[in-house]
Formats: sequence, C-alpha cells, structure tokens
Amino acid sequence: MDSPLVDGFGRNITYLRLSVTDRCDLRCAYCMAEKMTFLPKSEILSLEELETICAAFIARGVRKIRLTGGEPLVRRDILRLVRSLGDCLDRGELEELTLTTNGVLLEKYARDLKAAGIKRINVSLDSLDADVFARLTRRNVLGQVLRGMDAARNAGLHIKINTVALRNVNETEIPSILTWAHGHHMDMTLIEVMPMGEIDADRVDQYVPLTEIREGLEKKYTLLDTLLRTGGPSRYVRVRETGGLLGFITPLTNNFCAGCNRVRVTCTGRIYMCLGRDDHLDLREAVRSENPGRVIHAALDKAMIAKPQAHDFSIRERKAQPATRRHMSVTGG
Ligand code: SAM
Ligand code: SF4
Repeated sequence: MDSPLVDGFGRNITYLRLSVTDRCDLRCAYCMAEKMTFLPKSEILSLEELETICAAFIARGVRKIRLTGGEPLVRRDILRLVRSLGDCLDRGELEELTLTTNGVLLEKYARDLKAAGIKRINVSLDSLDADVFARLTRRNVLGQVLRGMDAARNAGLHIKINTVALRNVNETEIPSILTWAHGHHMDMTLIEVMPMGEIDADRVDQYVPLTEIREGLEKKYTLLDTLLRTGGPSRYVRVRETGGLLGFITPLTNNFCAGCNRVRVTCTGRIYMCLGRDDHLDLREAVRSENPGRVIHAALDKAMIAKPQAHDFSIRERKAQPATRRHMSVTGG
C-alpha cells in the first residue's frame, strides 16, 4: 500500500463517500430548492474516471466506500461502478461498499446491488404518512419506496433507516417510525437538519434539536447507551423494548469531528475535506492528466493538510446565510 492518508490532526482517513450525481428524483424540502440548478453535465466525471479516483483512495488505505448523491440510483449505468467496486471487495482491497438511497428505484436495483457485493444500505425516510411524505419530498411515491424496501429485504440487504427530524413535519411521528423500523428489523438513525445550501424555507423553522426528540422518545422507550461506534458521527442507543439500535447524528448540538475518518468526493471530482465547509480541492484535472496516479496522490496529500479540525454549523438566526453554498445533494450524506 502507498502511504496511508493521515490528516494534520492525526486522524486516519479510511472512508470515502462518493457522490455519483447531484441529480435526484425527489426534491426533499430540507435538502433542495424546488427549482434546482444542477451541475453542468459537461463537468460530470465518467464512471471510469470515478473508478480511477476510487482506486487511488484504496491504494492509500481507504477501506470503506459509500455511494451517495443526489440519488445514486438515477445515475445511468450505476451498476457498472458498483460491480467494479464489488470486485475490489472480492480481492480484499475494500472491506465494505455501501449505498445511501431514497429507495425510489430500489425495486429495480435491489437484487443486482446485492449480487455485486453490497450487504447494507441506508434508506432515507422521513415520514410514513403518504401526504406528509408527498409534501416533504414534493413527489407522491411513498408506496414505491416501501415496495423498494421490501425488495431490498427480500434480496438479503440489511437496511438502516435515516430520518431527518423536522419541526412541524415529522417530529411527532418519529416514535412511530422507530416502532415500524425496529419491527421490520431495521436500525434507525436520526439526523439534525444542517444549514447547507439555499432552500425555499428558513432553517430556523425546520430545525429540531435531537435532545428534544430524545426526551420525547424516553417517555415511551428505555434507551440504553452503547459504546458501539461505526467510525461515523452517530452515537447509538439500544432500545430495550424493541431490541433495535437507534443512532443520533447531532452536528448542531454535539459534533463528533474529533473522530472523523472520512472525506467526500463529488461527481465532478471535487474533494471536500469537511461536510460543513466549502473548501475543496479539484481532482478533475488530475484524473484527466497524463499521469493520473501520481497527480491524484499529490492532490490527496494536499487534501490531508487542508482537512479542518471541525465544522461549525449553527441554526439560530432567521435569514442567516447557509454554512455552505452547496446543497447536501452535491456531497451526499
Ligand atoms: N438521495 C439519497 C438519500 O436521500 O438517501 C442520498 C443523498 S441524501 C443528500 C443523503 C442524506 O442526507 C439523506 O439521509 C438526507 O435525509 C440527508 N440530508 C439531505 N439534506 C440534509 C440537510 N440539509 N441536513 C441534514 N441531512 C440532510
Ligand atoms: Fe434527493 Fe436525497 Fe436530497 Fe431527498 S435528501 S432531495 S432524496 S438527494
């Protein structure tokens, strides 16, 4: 292996999140504006170029890759990339390949994803009420998402549900989503909304601190703290009554940047060293250069030096500027 990726704070970077497209078949109100300007198609890297970037990260010690977006399953020929990364799993070069999806296209892809080597996926689901789901995502497809999850479970994929807590949208529904998820043997992670990109609403109206949601859940459930860490920012409790796990991602009320092990690459080849910052380095020229291997490795070394210690999200004042100009859909979750 080439020299491992270690940042200026001594953190080992072993996890890559790769956004394969910024486009999506939903328009979740906390993620995107209704009328979005997407990245120009001409700037989007080919699947071969994304494979070259992944290979460079793997050579430097990345052991886990999560494909994300936008919606990763809307990228044409996505299975080609999944299969080629699946081959890295077979050769023992990668330990885990995962995917975050909104579930809309899972019915079509579940079996092929499993066959390519994916074992676990995260499905984002913020409401089980068809009207709330349609208002929030601006698309009336809850039934299709639920069928997609059935297909995924039938294919043998483990699902974790990701739910963003939203004031006056799903805050009172979270206990029943938890009961449903654990009842279907799916763990769940709750996420605080982050002020990324201009959207059509004010973040102050969307934000609910998870401390508040936890207090509500504790009236119904016994939440047992665990030491389980999956290398990410989630802190897990075991719900005694269901036996399932519940994670809390709290970038606003309690960040866990000290243990950060990841960087993100977008579909245009930008590396973002921190989710909460706009600073980035560009790999597009590197991947298209005469000697991509050497030039990409030099860029990765620079990225390690540039990785900041922590993000600094806050949602306090109305009409505040977002923490990042880009939307979450550019780097993925
Ligand atoms: N489209 C896929 C999906 O929804 O799962 C993958 C990309 S999406 C950007 C990844 C995750 O980011 C989802 O769980 C979504 O709920 C979350 N997300 C999007 N915008 C967010 C925001 N502003 N704050 C917190 N989470 C956000
Ligand atoms: Fe699309 Fe995922 Fe963003 Fe929703 S959260 S708009 S599904 S990228």
